[in-house]
Amino acid sequence: MIKIIGRMLALSGRRRSKLILSFFMNFLESMMGFVPVVTAYLALYWLQADAMTIGRIRLIAVALAAAVLLRYAFKLLEFNLQSGVGYEVMCDERLSLGKRLLRLPLGFYQDSDAGRISSILNDDLVFIEDTATAFISKTVGAIVGAIGMAAFMFAIDWRVALIACIGYPLAGIANHFIKRHMTVCSALRQQAHAEASSAMLEHLRGIFVIKAFGLDGAQGTRLRKALRNLEVVSCDLEMGALPLAFAYACCFNVCTACILGSVATFYLGSTMTLSSAFLFIILLFAFYAPMELLGASSSILRLMNACLDRAQDIMERPVMDEGCESEEPRGYGISFSGVAFSYGGNAVLDGVSFEAPQNTMTAIVGPSGSGKSTILGLIARFWDVEAGSVEIGGVDVTRMKRDQLMQHVSIVFQATYLFHDTVIGNIRLGRPDATDEMVMEAAKRARCHEFISRLDRGYETVLSEAGATLSAGERQRIAIARALLKDAPLVLLDEVTAHIDPENELLIQQAIDELVKGRTVFLVTHKLSTVKHADRIIVLDGRKGIAESGTHDELMGNDGPYAAMWAKSRRISSWQLCG
Ligand code: ADP
Ligand code: MG
Repeated sequence: MIKIIGRMLALSGRRRSKLILSFFMNFLESMMGFVPVVTAYLALYWLQADAMTIGRIRLIAVALAAAVLLRYAFKLLEFNLQSGVGYEVMCDERLSLGKRLLRLPLGFYQDSDAGRISSILNDDLVFIEDTATAFISKTVGAIVGAIGMAAFMFAIDWRVALIACIGYPLAGIANHFIKRHMTVCSALRQQAHAEASSAMLEHLRGIFVIKAFGLDGAQGTRLRKALRNLEVVSCDLEMGALPLAFAYACCFNVCTACILGSVATFYLGSTMTLSSAFLFIILLFAFYAPMELLGASSSILRLMNACLDRAQDIMERPVMDEGCESEEPRGYGISFSGVAFSYGGNAVLDGVSFEAPQNTMTAIVGPSGSGKSTILGLIARFWDVEAGSVEIGGVDVTRMKRDQLMQHVSIVFQATYLFHDTVIGNIRLGRPDATDEMVMEAAKRARCHEFISRLDRGYETVLSEAGATLSAGERQRIAIARALLKDAPLVLLDEVTAHIDPENELLIQQAIDELVKGRTVFLVTHKLSTVKHADRIIVLDGRKGIAESGTHDELMGNDGPYAAMWAKSRRISSWQLCG
């Protein structure tokens, strides 16, 4: 409890004083709850002593009315202070988690799938924002209430107070077992929840394939299994806790019966006054109420702790730029020296070295899986090398902050992701401060203008998620328009024309020609015709290193893997011609 209050206070940052004040208001509010009990005791006491006067009746009435009003006022203040804080704190927390996620290496996204991350950002933080502040102050109020009532009871009659207090350690033992059960089950439940979210996301993303191939049965199995598992785990959590919760409630019921018995005995034995006996009977109904709430609260507190742990886990992951002083590149030549890289133990590159002078075009060719895209990823610092170095303009990329590095680099991938936004908004991503005219100019140069003009609302047409309303070739040209608008000196093109029909290919080729003018370009492709004019061709052969490199003519003369690739591609095109 103390730990979670500390964590919430630490999270609340500059809103801490508001939060503390709201807890204090809660304390005052629960103190007001005692006034009716005290007045009832006084009334009985005075009546019994035959000392009740009009003045005392008035005093009791005023005290009761004041207590109601004050209680309302404190509640209102507490609510006002608190209601915003939970949402504000969680909004800040989401934003900082978002920033952190951007700075994590891509490897993080491979280890933890989208379902798990979105479950942290949504379910976990929503749970905390909806529950945390209100819940903590309710719990603090309950503890204060219980301590106050116990003190009052001891002041009236210590014997009954002692019997009443025995209920707490007994309930504590039951609570310990509930806790143990919950700790095990809630971890399993969170796991099941994350798995269900991830299966649901996968199902929705793949819905086209699932429908097209009638895979509802096969592909739905993972989703069904995950949802069934969530159901089973959730039921286990509830059902397993039921007998323990029953035992917990029993502790209070047994103690209540003992108090009633002892009050009757003491009163009949004349060791307790009538007013005290009445008081205990009144208190009996209120004394255990806060503790029952606390019993229910311990599971919620644990869930809150677990949610905070998961969010903290992201915040504590090492980011790529931590503590690095950003250095400006001195030019835009690229050099790899002795680069080694592997994906989780699976070595892809080893001892790769080459130089690509500024304003030249370097083509990378090689079989699928030989590491072509990986080389581009290392230049853009999606990953960090394991050995050796990648330099841009003589500066190691690890010495540049990612956002600054990305200002110098434009990338066009094989598949372009378009956001659910207007066409103009999607192109403007390349340069957020560009005017409409600049965007249109880029669109024209990227051969997009014509098809955009044919859309219903032209540049203002909203594209559906992942740009599903445009053809692959059109999406690719939008990506090139983005890159043109960005106007970065380094351009990385990864299989831009793969899977594109010939008509689109021609347009894309024209758009690329615009893009590469006067820049340092890396071109990954398996269409050999497009690499012929490159200043340098790097050939990978799947054996983790560079098989050979040089200009087209040099490599053809070598009669090595490059020449073999040409021979193969000629054979394929002649088959196509014959067919
Ligand atoms: P290419 O672009 O030449 O087809 P890649 O650079 O994409 O090859 O991949 C090289 C090798 O690394 C392949 O065997 C591929 O399976 C593996 N690989 C690529 N990306 C990842 C990744 N994110 N995680 C794990 N392995 C990967
Ligand atoms: Mg690739």
